[in-house]
Amino acid sequence: MHETLSYLDVCRMLEAAVTQIRTHHERLSLLDAAVGDGDHGTTILRCMEAVTNAIQASNGTDLKALLSTIAWNVMDSDGGSTGPLLGSFFMGMSDALSPDTSDLDCPAAIAMFEGGILSVATQSRAKVGDKTMMDAFLPALEALQSAAPAGNIHSALQQAAQAAILGAESTKPLLAKFGRARNLGPRVIGHIDPGAVSVSLLFKGFSEAL
Ligand SMILES: [Mg+2]
Repeated sequence: MHETLSYLDVCRMLEAAVTQIRTHHERLSLLDAAVGDGDHGTTILRCMEAVTNAIQASNGTDLKALLSTIAWNVMDSDGGSTGPLLGSFFMGMSDALSPDTSDLDCPAAIAMFEGGILSVATQSRAKVGDKTMMDAFLPALEALQSAAPAGNIHSALQQAAQAAILGAESTKPLLAKFGRARNLGPRVIGHIDPGAVSVSLLFKGFSEAL
């Protein structure tokens, strides 16, 4: 039961998210082959390698600095259309923290994820139902915001991960409003959005690491 998140807890959560993507990147590319150009697994894996590199180069105390370094690394990682969006997720998380933060209580942890998701929402401009990664991010945000402030971080993240999985599944019958998938029109109906699946895998990793 986690009442606070330490610097090491956050590193463990990020590494567990990287492991999820590493395990499933081939499936993510197959999903993308049905609605796009089939590179999503490869590009998001490259973003995740940038996360790992930033953790390994980090000083081990300052979470705000770590997340900002991760964000810059991810944005520089040639991550296709995913790179800038994931970069803004990590940058928003960093922006939500005070300098030299190394331990987060539950409200601070929720504010960190909230900052990340709101930042990617601004960058993406997609809404729920547009068949993008926001179909997983926004339900996860709602789950985090409705978690009891006095509750524990683990259960809040479990609820966020569950909401993200359901959100990703909900993209299956939809037409796409953004990106390459939009040009495919009704051909994408029946296929789940790979970006939304990736987001659900990130939150699965975050929640399972605790
Ligand atoms: Mg693609």
